[in-house]
Amino acid sequence: MSTFSAPRGTYDLLPPDSATYLAVRDALAAPLRRAGYGYAETPGFEHVELFARGVGESTDIVTKEMYTLTTKGGDELALRPEGTASVLRAALQAGLHRSGVPVKLWYSGSYYRYERPQKGRYRHFSQVGAEAVGAEDPALDAELIVLAVDGYRSLGLRGFRLLLNSLGDTVCRPAYRAALQDFLRGLDLDEETRRRVEINPLRVLDDKRASVTERLAAAPLLRDHLCEACKTYHEQVRELLTAAGVAFEDDPRLVRGLDYYTRTTFEFVHDGLGAQSAVGGGGRYDGLSEQLGGPPLPSVGWALGVDRTVLALQAEGVALGLPTATEVFAVPLGEEARRALFEAVTELRRAGVAADFAYGGKGVKAAMKAANRSGARLAVIAGERDLAEGVVQLKDLVSGEQAPVRLGELVAGVRAALA
Ligand code: ATP
Ligand code: MG
Repeated sequence: MSTFSAPRGTYDLLPPDSATYLAVRDALAAPLRRAGYGYAETPGFEHVELFARGVGESTDIVTKEMYTLTTKGGDELALRPEGTASVLRAALQAGLHRSGVPVKLWYSGSYYRYERPQKGRYRHFSQVGAEAVGAEDPALDAELIVLAVDGYRSLGLRGFRLLLNSLGDTVCRPAYRAALQDFLRGLDLDEETRRRVEINPLRVLDDKRASVTERLAAAPLLRDHLCEACKTYHEQVRELLTAAGVAFEDDPRLVRGLDYYTRTTFEFVHDGLGAQSAVGGGGRYDGLSEQLGGPPLPSVGWALGVDRTVLALQAEGVALGLPTATEVFAVPLGEEARRALFEAVTELRRAGVAADFAYGGKGVKAAMKAANRSGARLAVIAGERDLAEGVVQLKDLVSGEQAPVRLGELVAGVRAALA
């Protein structure tokens, strides 16, 4: 006998754990839906060029982590490694910005990166993301950060921290970039990093290797080079966050792994996760639309990792109060009862009660075991004699109490028993 297993760096979501993932996804999306963000869904693959331009040619994502393929028709495609480039591409393609900005969109789905698999780092993972396209307003940056915090809090997550920085803009970043390059060129760095100094020096600050971070202690910081407009903008974001009761830590070394970020940049980290501590991140990307051939559309967005949020909940020992999958389990005794209870289960479901049925012609013992395993609070049991009297037995599986209920009043009886 041969069996297959999931590819390296991937895992399956199956009951009962899969319910937690769904609940986390829903909880992270709920604040967005209350704030005017509309749902967007884009293809799982795009033209490679979109990510090369939209994520950045020199990023790890593009140079090392993309799953690319050539179709039979000769198209160069890549499985999406992130959501922003796709969502902005879709908004531009549909011209959403022409009917008013900001265009506020949220999304959720699978992303693919060829990474070294470890706890919290997978080759297939899941994100909930949000983008507000076409407006430059510190309140929009603050809104998105507050909505992420509210999502985490609604799950009962406590141990996360918000790191905040500004990456400046086209006015002040060039001079800083040059100053940083001067500093970095004076360091003894490996060849790949030296190349990075020439292409995208800010990203060198993102290097996690101790051998590199040690040498960066005296690196110039963007904080000291921000222009007045960027300073004012950043100060307003900070004030709005404080007013909203959102704590943050200024992190002058925080840069994001992507080329298109400007001004506000942030990351959510969780200290219970070890090396893979980033549970989410985002920022402003005022230059991306033009980079993709669109009009100037200053935008801000974030992506939160669902997998790592689930791990963070586990690390904190938070159990979500998930609704039980099955509230009522039907146990028929005999053929006539099977028909009657099948109908009753359908009626319960249509009335909004989560109900299941002992399929497979089980004996009463196996059927009661299935009822208990389902987690149902109630069992509906019926045999020939019950049906002859026009009743079914409603059994509370917790207390063991049992009482007859008229078949025609089952929905009301179940509702009363569950209340
Ligand atoms: P890291 O520095 O950990 O590689 P990143 O900067 O590449 O993270 P983003 O591109 O900002 O991550 O993606 C947003 C979020 O998606 C991350 O904060 C993380 O929670 C999640 N994420 C990113 N890559 C992975 C992965 N390979 N496996 C699981 N979750 C991931
Ligand atoms: Mg990464």
